Amino acid sequence: MTMTKSKKSEAKRNSDNGVDLPKLRNIGFIAHVDAGKTTVTERVLFFSGETYKVGSVDEGTAIMDHMDQERERGITIGAAATNASWNHHQINIIDTPGHVDFTAEVERSLRVLDGVAVIIDSVAGVQAQSITVWRQADKHRVPRLVFVNKMDRIGADFDYAISTMHRRLFANAVPIQMPIGSESDFIGMIDLVAMRAYLYPPIKTSRDNGADLIEAVESQIPQEYLERATAAREELVSKVAEFDDELAEKYLLGEEIGTAELKAAIRAATIDMKIFPVLCGSAMRDRGIHQLLDAVINYLPSPLDLPPARGFKPGDPNTVIERESNPDEPLSALAFKLVSDEHAGKLLFIRVYSGILKRGMSVYNPSTRRRERIGRLLRMHADDREPVEQAGPGEIVAAIGLKSTLTGHTLCAENSHVAMAQIDFPEPVLSVSIEPPSRAESDRMTRSVLKIVDEDPTLRLISDEESGQLLLAGMGELHLDIVIDRLYRDYGVNCKKGRPRVAYRETLSRVAEAEGRFVRQTGGHGQYGVCALRVEPLPRGSGIQFESEITGATLKTEWHSAIEKGIRDAAATGVIAGYPVVDVKAVLTGGSQHDTDSSELAFQIAGSMAFKAAVSKGSPILLEPMMRQEVVIPSDMLGAVIGDLHSRRAQVQSMENTEIGPGQPGVLNVSAYIPLAETFNYSTDLRSLTSGHGHFTMELDHYAPIPADVAANLKG
Ligand code: GDP
Repeated sequence: MTMTKSKKSEAKRNSDNGVDLPKLRNIGFIAHVDAGKTTVTERVLFFSGETYKVGSVDEGTAIMDHMDQERERGITIGAAATNASWNHHQINIIDTPGHVDFTAEVERSLRVLDGVAVIIDSVAGVQAQSITVWRQADKHRVPRLVFVNKMDRIGADFDYAISTMHRRLFANAVPIQMPIGSESDFIGMIDLVAMRAYLYPPIKTSRDNGADLIEAVESQIPQEYLERATAAREELVSKVAEFDDELAEKYLLGEEIGTAELKAAIRAATIDMKIFPVLCGSAMRDRGIHQLLDAVINYLPSPLDLPPARGFKPGDPNTVIERESNPDEPLSALAFKLVSDEHAGKLLFIRVYSGILKRGMSVYNPSTRRRERIGRLLRMHADDREPVEQAGPGEIVAAIGLKSTLTGHTLCAENSHVAMAQIDFPEPVLSVSIEPPSRAESDRMTRSVLKIVDEDPTLRLISDEESGQLLLAGMGELHLDIVIDRLYRDYGVNCKKGRPRVAYRETLSRVAEAEGRFVRQTGGHGQYGVCALRVEPLPRGSGIQFESEITGATLKTEWHSAIEKGIRDAAATGVIAGYPVVDVKAVLTGGSQHDTDSSELAFQIAGSMAFKAAVSKGSPILLEPMMRQEVVIPSDMLGAVIGDLHSRRAQVQSMENTEIGPGQPGVLNVSAYIPLAETFNYSTDLRSLTSGHGHFTMELDHYAPIPADVAANLKG
């Protein structure tokens, strides 16, 4: 689906909402917990005129964190969307969570963003979570720039922060600014592109959030910085020239490189993900925010700078369909978040890729194969909403009135179907049983939980037939605690939760073979299904695969699919201890059929029997979720923390010390793999081990075999 240039330029304006596509940026701020994402977002909203009082995270008034628990826990969970205007541009900001228990939120936001500003702490540099998110952004090919925040902190070190980007992210991080001073002497920055300085008054000593609200004075580069800044610009030009032939030629000939041409080359290289421009500042002191907004506009892409959105023909993933950012193309849009709102009901956040989404129109959802009617459309500001009639390509809006559309579903024109690629969400790793406070409240509890489960694709509500209990499964302890909190606050259900249970998996450790025989031939119409299987271990993360080595002559092909169904059913219920079997290839190697007695059911049962028997022979083992954990502690508390980690079966991978200053204990980053089962109550325990000074983050990394002694206890 190619477009002519002239059509593309006509496509710039999304008709009556007046959104000028080249002037639109869909961005997110992404950071490790505590790097300052919320503070940066607040300041951006303030400076771009969307709010009049600067919220402070420490006081719990941050407007992006609009859920109560987020305020209390000081972390950002839901991905709210808001928009800001800056220098005649519209910037849509998708709020992304800072806690790893919510990586699914990051994943879904990355799907609909065009660019990201990554915020890193100038003292700690790149931290574990930034590494995870960086990889996710690589996968989705999202251009990024980097804001080195907290330049006012003791121990702030811009060059060190950049070196951690090279070392830990292998990223081509290219500074486009140079800080002037650091810590309490951080008074501004030099823009290496325009070769101008931005100077602020000295930092006051008290923690005066918001009180420094003073714009920078733009001036010449101070004499004492001129030489270093000139060398740094030279370095910048040489790095960008690698990706721009014209610039390279001028550079080699020693010609002057103007601001506009350098800017254009940085923009192209950033959008192409060849470089990641780095800026500096202090969100808390309001330093560097204007320049960050300028950089978002100058260097991050508009929807028109990106390749067409890719989808496929519903039901036929091999037929790729591309849709340009053009209001004249048929509608294609992706629902990326569902929020239940007590006033409006279900709010569905949607990114439009092509065509126009209109209030009241009918659209088609290929996932549910149903038509849906768009009720009202809203443009979201942090806590405020503005009704709009329509939304065009690149826009992000919330829709009301859709009945069956969920996160990850496509909405498209009724006469031109397309399905955008699904968003990948991980399977839950942990569950707790939940019980209503009284029998009478049981229904209400279930209904309320289901509403929350609808919003979050990494949550499941499972009814455990054996115990008769309801299990809530999710991505970690904090994740589940937040849901239980919400049940109480939003729905008034004060449910009791049981002890957390880990979602183990089963697999086999060697190749094995077995036969499944389901034959009943006593009188009347009998049952006949016989099959032989070989099972083989697969690498972690492969799931269950099925293959057939026999032809339709040996066994009719319809029995092959019945056998596969039996295998998948058996895999779901496990062989050792009732956990799902994963990472196994089942190969159908033989079988026999009967002219009248064979049936789908008979082969399904035979497949299931053969699979269970074969896996049992293949030395089955239990796998447990291993979390990647990063613990940050004052270095003089190392002994106690490491001892405790070892007692939890953690495998320490690395320790990195960051010096804070003469005479002060440094900060130690410990990276480890730790079994999920050993992490319960870790936040309380770490707090008491470190008198409240330790922090940690944790996320699922992989599944690993459980040591035999631990597994023995589990089975018993
Ligand atoms: P988030 O977890 O990434 O959203 O981080 P927050 O915005 O909640 O900030 C974490 C903590 O760092 C809060 O106590 C902020 O006040 C503080 N903080 C944020 N920006 C700065 C900064 O530029 N300098 C200093 N010194 N502290 C900051």
